Amino acid sequence: MKERTFYHYSCRHGAVGIRGTGWVRPNSHPLLCHELVWLTDMAQPAMNALGLTSHTIDCDRTAYRVTVQTDNAVWWPIWARRLDLETRRKFDTAYGAMPARWWVHQGQLRAVKVDKLSELVNR
Ligand SMILES: [Zn+2]
Repeated sequence: MKERTFYHYSCRHGAVGIRGTGWVRPNSHPLLCHELVWLTDMAQPAMNALGLTSHTIDCDRTAYRVTVQTDNAVWWPIWARRLDLETRRKFDTAYGAMPARWWVHQGQLRAVKVDKLSELVNR
C-alpha cells in the first residue's frame, strides 16, 4: 500500500515529547482498551470534528500539528466495528464529531514535522 500523509494533533506537553523523541506514541483512551495514535486527514484542526475539545483535559489539544506518513492507518469507521455499539456511539455522536475524518494507528509513528498552530487558529 502507498504511504499517506496524516496529521496528529497534540497539546504543548505532548509536542515536547514528540519533538524530543521524534516519535508519536500511542495513547490509551478511557473508553478503549487499545493504545492508539489518533490521526486525521484534516490539515487544519476543527476541534469538535476531531473529538479534541478540552472537556476532559485541561490542555489545548490542537496547539500542535504533527505530520506523519504511514500505509498502516485504519479508517475509524472500519476499526470501530470491533467496538460494542454503545462505545462506538459515544465517539461517533459527540457534538460536531466527524468520524469519517478519523484514522487510528496501532504502534508508534515517526514524526515527519511538528508545527505550532495556536496562533493561526481562531478560537
Ligand atoms: Zn497537555
